[in-house]
Amino acid sequence: MKTVAVLGGGPAGAFAAERLARSGLHTRLFDEKLAWEKPCGGGLTYKAYHQYPFLIENDTPKRLVRETTLAAPDAGEAKITLAHPLVIYSRMDLNRMLLERAERSGVWIEKTRVLGLERHDRAWRLRTQTSTLEADFCIIATGARNPLREVGTQWSAKDTMCALGYYVPAFQEHIDIQFLEQLEGYIWVFPRCGHLSVGICGKNEPAQALRTRLEAYMNQRGISSKGATFYSHMLPSLESPGWRSNRVAGDGWLAVGDAGGLVDPITGEGLYYAMRSGDLASRVLIDDAHGLLEKAAAYRALLAREFALDLEFAATLAKRVFLGKFLFSSVPARMIQFMRRSPRFRDLMQDLFAGTQPYLGLKSRLLRNLNGTLQEVLMNFFLHRVIPGESRVAS
Ligand SMILES: Cc1cc2nc3c(=O)[nH]c(=O)nc-3n(C[C@H](O)[C@H](O)[C@H](O)COP(=O)(O)OP(=O)(O)OC[C@H]3O[C@@H](n4cnc5c(N)ncnc54)[C@H](O)[C@@H]3O)c2cc1C
Repeated sequence: MKTVAVLGGGPAGAFAAERLARSGLHTRLFDEKLAWEKPCGGGLTYKAYHQYPFLIENDTPKRLVRETTLAAPDAGEAKITLAHPLVIYSRMDLNRMLLERAERSGVWIEKTRVLGLERHDRAWRLRTQTSTLEADFCIIATGARNPLREVGTQWSAKDTMCALGYYVPAFQEHIDIQFLEQLEGYIWVFPRCGHLSVGICGKNEPAQALRTRLEAYMNQRGISSKGATFYSHMLPSLESPGWRSNRVAGDGWLAVGDAGGLVDPITGEGLYYAMRSGDLASRVLIDDAHGLLEKAAAYRALLAREFALDLEFAATLAKRVFLGKFLFSSVPARMIQFMRRSPRFRDLMQDLFAGTQPYLGLKSRLLRNLNGTLQEVLMNFFLHRVIPGESRVAS
């Protein structure tokens, strides 16, 4: 393979490009903005920086936050101190760091918009704002608003979430997560260096309604939007059928990150999956054991093994977690109550925050660990209601 073109230089594209160039492949990356403040919370879980320690061991400005408050209507709040902090970046800083790493490893980076791509005789012809060029293989990393219709995930409205918020010039020490009445989504307040990212994500609800909910919350909490910058973006949130038919790879291309729909449908975590899929895609490209025609299948198999089956299972849980009822109360309200009363449930929530507890193992973990108190018998009953049979997807 002579040249790999990486289309998009967010975390998925920049990380894939770095890995490809390190292995000696001629790698060209195109992004219309390069480092920019992409609408995002900017939170990286333990899973991400444990896998890629440079994400925490660096001089780039970031906040490490442990204190977290979760709240739901009619249930008050529960506080936890995370065993592993959430690492929170401004996306401008995170993107810049990843692009600089790519450049240092030999990636040829150009700031331009990719306008289209065509397949000719087992090669790609790319059209950018500035030139036309040939590549042998393409990594599609153009994010959730991928404008290139012939490559990457194809989704319908129900496979996406709307996410919007404000960068507020204020300070707070802890993270807030607020569940809301009848919303498949939540509000977050993430402390960053010099400001807060305050946002809301939600499925099946218009952006204006989400904004109204967020502003009501901010008013109630005394968080002023004066001087704050508004942001909004789309977030992939594939339903189960979307995961099964996901167009994540094809002849001569692999899609990574949001362009491949690779986002946790419950938490909206996408940064880890962007970087991990970039890493996996680069391994498949580098590995000579797969011929060019086999790369797509090899990548799909790797994704499934690493996390796609787990995220597909999470898609079956999402509605139950946000909109379900248990003993006349909402599931989020019951979760807050269990967190206050059960150390075991708090541990479980810790691990979910850290990203170290796969959704597919949730039920068996709880069944293994119950100690027979009334609270935990109730919790067992609750989890049976919320979590369907895990074997359906795993088998
Ligand atoms: C409001 C919000 C909050 C979020 N909070 C979190 C969080 O706290 N933690 C977390 O893990 N995830 C979060 N996510 C998800 C996370 O932001 C994404 O999953 C992540 O950015 C995906 O990275 P990516 O590289 O795939 O795509 P992107 O970061 O979107 O990068 C795509 C890049 O492609 C470029 N591009 C697009 N089209 C073209 C073109 N035609 N030509 C050239 N360049 C192009 C863009 O300029 C962009 O730089 C959040 C998402 C939203 C919307």
